[in-house]
Parts: sequence; structure tokens; C-alpha cells
Amino acid sequence: MASRIDDHIRGLLSQIQAEGLYKRERLITGPQAGTVSIRSDGVDREVINLCANNYLGLADHREVIAAAQQALHEFGFGMASVRFICGTQTLHRELERTIARYLGKDDAILFAACFDANGGVFEPLLEADDAIISDSLNHASIIDGVRLCRAKRYRFANGDMNELEDRLKEADRDGARFKLVATDGVFSMDGYVADLPAICDLADRYGAIVMVDDCHATGHLGEAGRGTPALTGVGQRVDIVTGTFGKSLGGAMGGFVAASQPIVDLLRQRSRPYLFSNSLAPAVAAGSIKAIEIAENADDRRQRLAGYSKRFRSGLEQAGFELLPGVTPIIPVMLHEAPLAQKMAAALDDRGVYVAGFFYPVVPKGKARIRTQMSAALTEKEVDSAIDAFADAGRALGII
Ligand SMILES: *Cc1c(COP(=O)(O)O)cnc(C)c1O
Repeated sequence: MASRIDDHIRGLLSQIQAEGLYKRERLITGPQAGTVSIRSDGVDREVINLCANNYLGLADHREVIAAAQQALHEFGFGMASVRFICGTQTLHRELERTIARYLGKDDAILFAACFDANGGVFEPLLEADDAIISDSLNHASIIDGVRLCRAKRYRFANGDMNELEDRLKEADRDGARFKLVATDGVFSMDGYVADLPAICDLADRYGAIVMVDDCHATGHLGEAGRGTPALTGVGQRVDIVTGTFGKSLGGAMGGFVAASQPIVDLLRQRSRPYLFSNSLAPAVAAGSIKAIEIAENADDRRQRLAGYSKRFRSGLEQAGFELLPGVTPIIPVMLHEAPLAQKMAAALDDRGVYVAGFFYPVVPKGKARIRTQMSAALTEKEVDSAIDAFADAGRALGII
């Protein structure tokens, strides 16, 4: 009987609304870019976009679009097959080889999204007598992937290396055969970079392998955009990298695991989101290959992005806002209370700046914020206008 469950769900939805946690989607009428046109009440208007993961500004890059169009003509629209039946084109292998070479790994394997890569990476590699030691702020997809795996689970407080060491010892006491430490490279809500040198040192000392989800870094952080292992100088000491084509690298969709040949080969045999889900669309694969090529040689874009991040940070600090410290293009403006974060987002919207407020349960209670993200797609003038809009809105709401 559908009506009973519908009534129950209507109750849940009203509760979400009453708690001020209901998420509404805004309609963008064109491509993702530094400024986007959004439609509300039938009216379109241009706003400065500070909430996309379009760090390098490749989402509407001419050459990426041309590569995708070319692939549509040459390779068709879709594969209508999983990879191992009849869904592997030369393009898919080319994308796997390209991302593996970019990150200095033996090989890589594609997934429909990094959510699937993280969902499918643990279970084939580890068994009940193994251990996964996971940072408490890891992405939801890592948490889900760990749940789907039979290995014993251990958690350490975000970035707490003493706790990580305690958990490694505990796993040893529990007789773990293999130990794997899993961490985000950049924690998306705070913009903090994982302490990979300390993690790799501990992993060496206790004989663990290291897995980094570098979704918020690949393409724009570190030398040539090779991500947090490059940024923090640990390089190939990270054994397994998972990542996405849905952020810096063109922003379309698709995820990957890059690792040693045996790991990638086993995932191709056993990883369930890989085995039981359709191949990436050819146009997406081709556009992503082009995006990696551009990213590798995009020091100009990385420099612009880093310059904007510094400029925006110091502008907001001078205006009197409380920011979380950091070096990434993720710049969280702390407002603490959810209603204030929502009011601030609305006030910025009135002033032509598109931002997203984050509050419980996405971040802890009392830590509501506006998370801003810089993009190489912005102009310096737009960055400055955004600072002015923040200052004006902040004064209007009595925040600064
Ligand atoms: C965005 C993100 C994902 C999910 O990537 P998709 O390709 O969009 O599924 C996974 N992990 C982290 C850390 C992310 O930021």
C-alpha cells in the first residue's frame, strides 16, 4: 500500500523542512563557469559562482568540448554494456593509461563515479582478518565502501596522528594480516590537507598500505596538479589513489582507482560497481583525457587559482570574517549557526554571488559555514566583487 508509506515520508519531509535542513536546487541555464546564469521565478540573472568544484575552469573549455564532440562522432553516444562484456573501447583504456601515467601508477581502472570507486575498492582487496583505519572526516563514499568490506574497522579523529598510531597498534594486537590507512587528500568541508608525510611514516613503521581519495586535489594541487602526494612530497609512498573526473578534470563524471598492477587487475575481476555497472560514455572518456592533458600543462591556471585563493582569503580576513586556515582553494567562512549561514547565503544571492551554506549534518552542530571555492574560471574583478559583496552582506547582518 503506497499511501501509507507516502504519508510517512511526507512527515519526514516536513520534519526536514522544519529543521531548516531542506535542500533546494537552483536552476542554471547554461554551462558551468566562473559566472553562471540562474533562473528563479522565470527570471534569469548572472551570478558569480563560488561553489563549483571547477577549480581549473575546464568544465566549459573549448578543447575539452571539441574532444567530446569528436568522440560522439567516432565512438557513438553510449556503450550499452559493462566493460567486460562489450563495453571497452580503445578510449577507455586510453583514459586509464593517461590517468595512471599522470599520477605515476602502474595502471588505473574506471568507475561511473568516485563514489563507486570508493564503494568498490576495499571489498575485493581485504578480508575479515584485515584492518581498515579510516579518518573520521573521510568522504561518505569511503565510509560506505568500508562498510561493504569484511575487514575490521578502526577510526581515528581527523588528522590526529597519535590516534592513528594507537589504532595501528590496536589492529596489530587484534592480529590483522594487512592494514590499510584510508584518508581524503583534502577534506572538503574544511579545506584541510591530510598530513601525508606523517601518515606514510606511520604506515611504514607499522607495515600498512595507504589509500588517498584525492578528489579535491587531482588536477590543481601539487607539481603539475598531481595532487596531495605531490604537494606534500610523499609521491609514490601512497599506494592507492582514488579520484574523480567530476571536479578539476573537466567536471563531467567518472571515477578511478590508480594503483599497482596486481591491485588494478584484481579490482577488474572482483569490484562490484565495476562489474555490474555500465561503461563511461565515450564523449565523457574523451573529454576527460583532454582535460588531463590540459591540466598537466596548466601551471598558468594553477597560478591564477592560487593567486585568487590568497586574494580572496586576505580580502575576507581584512573585512573581519572568521575563516578556517588553509592553503587550498576551499575557503570556509565560519558563521557557526545554521540560520545565520542560510541568511548569509541569501544576502549574497541578493548581491549576485552564488554560495552554498553548510550546516548539520554535513558539518558538526555549531560549525555552520559558507564554503567558498575559488576557480581559475573567475576574473580578478569577479573575485574582488565577491569580497565586496561579502563585506556588504556581513555588515548588513551584523556579522562584521
Ligand atoms: C566528490 C567526492 C567524491 C565523489 O566523487 P564523484 O565522482 O562525484 O562520485 C568522493 N570523495 C571525495 C573526497 C569527494 O570530494
